[in-house]
Amino acid sequence: MDYLPVFLDIRNKKVIIEGDGTLAARRAERALSAGAEVILFAPHPGDEVNELMGHARLSHFARQPEEGDFEGCILAYGATENPVRDERLQAWAKSAGALCNIADAPDLCDFIAPSIVDRTPITVAISTSGAAPVIARILRARLEAMLPASIGKLAEFASSYRERIAETIKSGTARRRFWENMIDGPAGDSFLFGNEARAREMIEEGLDCAARDDCLTQGEVYLVGAGPGDPDLLSFRALRLMQLCDVVLYDRLIGDGIMSLVRRDAERIFVGKQARKHTMPQEDIQNLMAKLALQGKRVLRLKGGDPFIFGRGGEEIETLAQHNIPFQVVPGVTAAAGCGAYAGIPLTHRDHAQSCVFVTAHGRDGARNEEWPKLVRSDQTVVVYMGLSSIHEWGDALSAANVDPQTPVAVVDNGTRSNQRVVTGTIGTIADKVHKAGLKGPSIGILGSVVSLRDKLNWYKHEGPSFQMGIGSVQADYEPSE
Ligand code: SAH
Repeated sequence: MDYLPVFLDIRNKKVIIEGDGTLAARRAERALSAGAEVILFAPHPGDEVNELMGHARLSHFARQPEEGDFEGCILAYGATENPVRDERLQAWAKSAGALCNIADAPDLCDFIAPSIVDRTPITVAISTSGAAPVIARILRARLEAMLPASIGKLAEFASSYRERIAETIKSGTARRRFWENMIDGPAGDSFLFGNEARAREMIEEGLDCAARDDCLTQGEVYLVGAGPGDPDLLSFRALRLMQLCDVVLYDRLIGDGIMSLVRRDAERIFVGKQARKHTMPQEDIQNLMAKLALQGKRVLRLKGGDPFIFGRGGEEIETLAQHNIPFQVVPGVTAAAGCGAYAGIPLTHRDHAQSCVFVTAHGRDGARNEEWPKLVRSDQTVVVYMGLSSIHEWGDALSAANVDPQTPVAVVDNGTRSNQRVVTGTIGTIADKVHKAGLKGPSIGILGSVVSLRDKLNWYKHEGPSFQMGIGSVQADYEPSE
């Protein structure tokens, strides 16, 4: 982080602004709306500055500032776009101990004026650390559209219950959950839809129930598919539950980009697995999940891809069902779908493949699955999960299954991530090429003539479906099939 975000209390404090135009007017407006005493030096005020005249906390001087004006000032804005006046203002502000911001002169700034979404008392401030203010403005527009206008009123409404809730619900976890249910649940919805009376009723019911101590203790498990790596592929529901959990159990397939979206103060437990190197046996993971939920926690089990596709999600919910623990399962983009899309390989195509099967090269306890090569046919795409470590053995198994050695194959490594790499070849050549490329996984293999479409679509020209930058690839060498 290049700058520390803070929200300053400037109520009744002295803020100096120098400038006649729009920039000065915007800064004055914002400082006034945050309660400051604004001293505006505008020798030739423009229309927008003139519109502010008459505000009770605004003092206007039709001259340039002098050093003595800065005494007691805590913030100073230079908005003249005149380098000589800017530098002078900055020097005086500094010697008075004020923080200074000069428009379009980052070297003279102590702080950046962020883009703001104002839903007082809720304020969202966005900064790109000066790198690309346009991005901040675009984000601001998106957030404006996303945040209901009355969300600020909801915050005020909620805060009127603060003391009673603190008195009635002693446990920190239960209290936080009550707040979340209130804001993000039916009570908050009723308020936002204009039915304040119903919202109050619901909160009273909740408080009664909390006072009797017979609710709020039920734990829950969220089995959430986090997709293959690109955080943009998370579903809204996944994100919501990630923001709600008390504890998260995650494994090796979950990257930092996704973990950074989990609620910041949720406890994090790594239960990582690697082929044949299980950090925590599956049974222990299941028991741990159940134990935490029985303690009343909201447990997020974050899984790579989809929880029900080679994700052992089925086993995990069996354990939960045995303990009568409520759970939710949130599907995720499975590696096959993510890698196909990001590598330019449609998994089915009318002229190439009428079916697509997902197979694992390793079954129970990592034992090799010898059956999958029999599924490779000319009209079917086969996606092989967990097959990287056995890729050198594929050749024999596939020839034993009478598969054409010219069948195109792509191996997609770290699919959908910024370090995605795609190696293409044929059944005859792929193992050596993958070895040479030094792929480390996670990787999937895609077998079938759909792989040749990657070339036909000239995928190299616009690598990645969202034209992502920096996704490497190794060119194909197979003969495209007829
Ligand atoms: N539940 C997951 C699969 C877990 S099994 C899903 O639905 O995707 C683990 C295997 O998934 C890995 O060995 C690899 O074959 C595949 N995989 C997961 N993420 C991947 C990625 N980003 N790129 C390529 N393969 C991936």
